[in-house]
Amino acid sequence: MNQIHTYTDQQLKIWIEDQSQAESLAVRADEIRRSIYGTDVYLRGLIEFTNYCKNNCYYCGIRCGNSQVDRYRLSRDQIMDCCEEGYRLGYRTIVLQGGEDPYYKDENICRIVSDIKKRYPDCAVTLSIGEKSRASYQAYFDAGADRFLLREETSNEGHYRKLHPEGMSMTRRQECLFALKEIGFQVGAGFMVDSPYQTTEDIIADLRFLEKLQPDMIGIGPYVTHSDTPFAAYPSGSVDKTLRLISILRIMFPYVLLPATTALGTMDPLGREKGLKAGANVIMPNLSPTDVRKKYSLYDNKICTGEESAQCRDCLELRVKNAGYRIVTSRGDVKRVY
Ligand code: SAH
Repeated sequence: MNQIHTYTDQQLKIWIEDQSQAESLAVRADEIRRSIYGTDVYLRGLIEFTNYCKNNCYYCGIRCGNSQVDRYRLSRDQIMDCCEEGYRLGYRTIVLQGGEDPYYKDENICRIVSDIKKRYPDCAVTLSIGEKSRASYQAYFDAGADRFLLREETSNEGHYRKLHPEGMSMTRRQECLFALKEIGFQVGAGFMVDSPYQTTEDIIADLRFLEKLQPDMIGIGPYVTHSDTPFAAYPSGSVDKTLRLISILRIMFPYVLLPATTALGTMDPLGREKGLKAGANVIMPNLSPTDVRKKYSLYDNKICTGEESAQCRDCLELRVKNAGYRIVTSRGDVKRVY
């Protein structure tokens, strides 16, 4: 169950590129998913607590170079209010995501994490706040954080350089991921599908990197164009390719927690349902206050920015049921024995 299944580059290339493979991949992936996780779908309540970012990634809407962004930060009280609403709605994982915002010092992050854990001891807390020192990661872990999401974005140095400005480093990002694992976090990695200049070989390099890292969670979604970035002219990614990759990931990493992402739902009104059927078993609904949701705009036309959290919850219940699965109220830890 905990084993990783590896395939040749040649086999992976066919699966990644050829849509005629999609159905058989999805059937196989769904079978594997059901054998480990049944029809359970885990929810993660996502709080986007700051859209300030010191980085300038070319693909991302909240990059520091985008002067069109209306910047915001949530206070500890606002974050706690979101958690209260989330807990009431049955969420047992809270994800705190943001740009890399130096305003929040380690002690602030630790205080927020420990406050949430104290108030809701049966909840997992996940952080997604970018690259930090090992000592910072250790401090967050000691404060009670359970999981950390940090997508590697790409595993080819040449491709990494095309997506990021001078001063950012692929090696550093990968080192962060290994440090997080060593500290004891459940770790999530991943990449965008069809980001500008990405080749099939780059995706295979990501799969090889993931084989080495053995993460507990893998988040992938299509690259979605943001009109105020240097990549405004590059087209958004393929939903079908993303779905094939979800199936490939489920087949290669049977135990892994795989979200049907908001980016997938943005590119196709039924994207998340299709993601579940292709092998995904996690959904990350938005718990941010409604008035800031539009401001956390990594890409254009992001879904669920108008609704109240409770509306998102009801809508999802129905969508998941219609896809043939069922939302469960639990922390949804990885089913994996080390
Ligand atoms: N600052 C944190 C959180 C990043 S936002 C960090 O560095 O990890 C979460 C993810 O959104 C990113 O890792 C990236 O893969 C994705 N993302 C950013 N811009 C995007 C775009 N234009 N289209 C699709 N996904 C995007």
